Amino acid sequence: MAKIAMYPGTFDPLTNGHLDIIKRCVPLFEKIIVAVAKNPSKKPMLSIEERVSILEEETSTFDNTEIHVFEGLTVEYANKIGANYLLRGLRAVSDFEFELQMAMMNRELNPEVETFFLVPDAQYSFLSSSLAKEVYRLGGNVEQFMPNSTLRMLDQKTGK
Ligand code: ADP
Repeated sequence: MAKIAMYPGTFDPLTNGHLDIIKRCVPLFEKIIVAVAKNPSKKPMLSIEERVSILEEETSTFDNTEIHVFEGLTVEYANKIGANYLLRGLRAVSDFEFELQMAMMNRELNPEVETFFLVPDAQYSFLSSSLAKEVYRLGGNVEQFMPNSTLRMLDQKTGK
């Protein structure tokens, strides 16, 4: 069976932490589907199209990644695209409880899909999209946290 992995997330916006996880998975799976969750209740800063376009640009050098958009249950979408692995990043201990609950629930919903946790490089272990956005909003330097396409999109969006 082909090893197909789905990496679900909000990616609002893509940070170097997300990219670090994607890069680590590229040699491990035949196909990686980065799936952007359509969840308007989270009130994202960037539109789905903007988030997808950043991801497409930043993953264009990999030949086994695809960018999708999905709505609803993660495991249902995984099933639909034939993904047998879910990828999640674990940063600090604070991620653990929520991620464990999600992994257990997803296993209950579909025992065929295995959750695969990856740990990013230490420099990204305290980085989140929301914190990076906050620093950006307050005028701080976020160059070391975000790839170029994210920075460009944020500047364009805010008219900087
Ligand atoms: P979600 O709303 O699903 O948490 P995010 O875009 O915030 O969406 O995160 C998607 C996944 O990427 C999660 O598994 C999260 O733990 C992981 N992630 C986010 N930031 C980092 C980072 N700096 N290093 C490693 N993993 C990360």
